[in-house]
Amino acid sequence: MIKIFTTIFLLIIGSTGFAIADTDYQLHAELIAKNTYVFIGKKEDFSMVNGGNILNTAFIVTNEGVVLIDSGPSYQYALQAKAAINEITDKPVIKIFITHSHPDHFLGNQVFPDASIYALPTTIRELKTNAESFLDNVYRLADYWMAGTEVSINSILPLNSTSELIGEHSLRYLFLKGHTAADLAILDETTGVLFTGDLVFHNRAATTPHANIEAWLLSLDKLEQIRFNLLVPGHGEVTGNISPIKQTREYLTWLDVTIKRSVMDGLSMNEVINLPVPEQFQNLAVLKSEFMRSVIHRYPIYEKTLFEQIE
Ligand SMILES: [Zn+2]
Repeated sequence: MIKIFTTIFLLIIGSTGFAIADTDYQLHAELIAKNTYVFIGKKEDFSMVNGGNILNTAFIVTNEGVVLIDSGPSYQYALQAKAAINEITDKPVIKIFITHSHPDHFLGNQVFPDASIYALPTTIRELKTNAESFLDNVYRLADYWMAGTEVSINSILPLNSTSELIGEHSLRYLFLKGHTAADLAILDETTGVLFTGDLVFHNRAATTPHANIEAWLLSLDKLEQIRFNLLVPGHGEVTGNISPIKQTREYLTWLDVTIKRSVMDGLSMNEVINLPVPEQFQNLAVLKSEFMRSVIHRYPIYEKTLFEQIE
């Protein structure tokens, strides 16, 4: 309730000319393959400037209805995404797949009460534990952009099948993990479009707060074996080759080795944060902030493992 009042207050002062709470995400549905569209997000951190429009959400217009992959970071985002979808088709959104439990991927659920929403069983468990605190966190990061956003996860159904025909689109569901405890990737075998969720970042440093890097690297190996025409990463540009998979693998491997070695060498957390970053990663968006975050939460994990080995 407090959140709603904050927003109303902002809108009121907006109407008096002091500030304007502009929550136009300027979403553009980009056609990438037959019946297949992506709202490409910015390669930025979740902020007051972008309102959380930092990820790629996608939809497939099938004969049966629209399939949406991730519902986005806020109520406003999902409302605008729904309006953009309605401009392309009069078919309703019938199914939504939530690729994993991070807040930019599921906070638009409430806009689609008539759709069946699916996620991997472990993702549902994680959402039950973390969704409310994730919501508090994004309100802090993006404030009025989050107006009206609520956690809507109770109707999410566990995804148990590994393939399905929806309309004329044959979808294959890949049960993977590593970015979080459960990560869903989807291959549309009809168009050859592979939606990887956040297992793949493209030209943007990966986020690792809930990562198991070993499991993540194994998932990347599996993704690399798949024949696809186009790859839609969770964050970053769509491409027709495996380069974003390789890039994510190389970055994670470097991150893992660097922090591990630094802990063994007795470097302080601060010293690790200030280590030089190899040339090949210099152009990744949000590199500095993501690297710092990764060091802050992964350094203690390696430190603990090292101490346990010594003991
Ligand atoms: Zn994520």
